[in-house]
Amino acid sequence: MAPESDDGPRGLLARLKAALGESALLLSEADMAPYAMDHRRRYRGRPLAVLRPADTAQVAAAVKLCAEAGIGIVPQSGNTGLSGGATPDAGGSQVILSLSRLNRIRAVDPVNNTLTAEAGCVLAAVQRAAESADRYFPLSLASEGSCEIGGNLSTNAGGTAVLRYGNMRELALGLEVVLPSGEIWDGLRGLRKDNTGYDLKHLFIGAEGTLGIITAAVLKLFPSPRSSATAIAALASPRDAVKLLGALQSACGERLTAFELFTEACLQLVLKHYPACRRPFAQPASCFVLIELTDVQEQGTVGPLAERALGTALEKGLITDAATAASLAQAREFWALRENISEAQAAEGLNIKHDVAVPISAIDDFIATTGEELARAIPGVRLIVFGHLGDGNLHYNVQQPEGQDRQAFLSREAEVNKIVYDQVARFGGSISAEHGLGQLKKETIKTYKSVLELEMMRKIKAALDPQGIMNPGKVL
Ligand SMILES: Cc1cc2nc3c(=O)[nH]c(=O)nc-3n(C[C@H](O)[C@H](O)[C@H](O)COP(=O)(O)OP(=O)(O)OC[C@H]3O[C@@H](n4cnc5c(N)ncnc54)[C@H](O)[C@@H]3O)c2cc1C
Repeated sequence: MAPESDDGPRGLLARLKAALGESALLLSEADMAPYAMDHRRRYRGRPLAVLRPADTAQVAAAVKLCAEAGIGIVPQSGNTGLSGGATPDAGGSQVILSLSRLNRIRAVDPVNNTLTAEAGCVLAAVQRAAESADRYFPLSLASEGSCEIGGNLSTNAGGTAVLRYGNMRELALGLEVVLPSGEIWDGLRGLRKDNTGYDLKHLFIGAEGTLGIITAAVLKLFPSPRSSATAIAALASPRDAVKLLGALQSACGERLTAFELFTEACLQLVLKHYPACRRPFAQPASCFVLIELTDVQEQGTVGPLAERALGTALEKGLITDAATAASLAQAREFWALRENISEAQAAEGLNIKHDVAVPISAIDDFIATTGEELARAIPGVRLIVFGHLGDGNLHYNVQQPEGQDRQAFLSREAEVNKIVYDQVARFGGSISAEHGLGQLKKETIKTYKSVLELEMMRKIKAALDPQGIMNPGKVL
């Protein structure tokens, strides 16, 4: 479609300046640099401008002006995404629209158990606002000090408490969205039941900014947990970890909040790069699980429950050792072993990352067969496998063999990806569990999603964004 305003980028920038105020536009390379590169420094874009609107009306005004000029818009919140979804292309004609100034908590309703937050609210600030009302917002990610609600919704973020509370899709009741036309859809309903046709909010959640710009959301709150127990167990195989998950679910029900797997290879990397971290047990093991139980009851209930359940698992030979944290400090030490894996990997050298999901019942076979195939293809390859086992979500990362040339390893990325993703497909899994497609997997997905599914996605995109201005070149 031909742009309605054809006085070029200068004309558009002048109109944007008039609509948003001069200070809301960043135009110099230095000012735009932090927005133009993704968190992993894998993608570097060249934006025409970075727009920093102050409220929903300004977002709508900016989108309308960009739509009239036929200019692509890349929404960006905390810029912690891991798939390059918030980075523009290098063409110099797309604008980044940052939501970070939309950072107000609009309402907290403890009776309805809801909180209405603008898209630029940092996740940790939302958690704190819930706490102030004696409620709990459970989304929890290692990036929670910088990622923002709009990005969490647009990537359908997961994290460590999905097992108990669900991912972002399950935590949102309503949305406010600026559509690619510049119209504002007010869907900020705090209802748990609303069967009035298509549930439109789900189109925008997980859409990575390709269908519209989320400006605010009604989020679900929960009673605050008042007690927690953190434990770590050593196991002889991932198969036993899956069996332990079932045993703990039966014994502890919904109190089981986190169930995180990591292998001995992950632990060794963490111990090497984080000297303050300590091996949890004297003996190495095939793998470990970090377990967290929480309860709304006061302290005293979950600790003994965890100890009883793990004692039974030990008697049955499901685990080889276990320890329950005796203090908050020790719980943090246990969590540090899990949370430092990504950074330890980065310090160790090059690795090829995969964020995949398979049915929990297939995890053990997936890990075994994929590992065998990779070892055949790249002798000496190191597999750094960890993740949210309770959700069937593994970070299946393939680390450069010790001493191998970086470039030689990197040149085999496509081959490594094919081995991993073919196995994911074989076991009925997904090639992106929680990080989205962005730029990183937009080509790969064509092999692993059916033609019909892709066609339905394209039709939805064409219906909502006929000009194709919303986050061009991402997802589809
Ligand atoms: C250390 C670390 C740990 C992480 N752990 C996890 C984890 O456990 N689980 C997990 O799910 N992710 C994890 N992530 C990934 C990342 O933090 C999440 O994807 C997060 O939800 C992204 O939020 P953001 O605000 O940074 O979004 P951004 O990076 O700014 O954007 C992400 C995508 O959403 C789009 N977008 C952003 N805001 C909007 C909006 N308002 N409207 C429409 N589209 C928008 C962007 O265009 C982009 O496509 C981790 C990242 C890091 C760095």
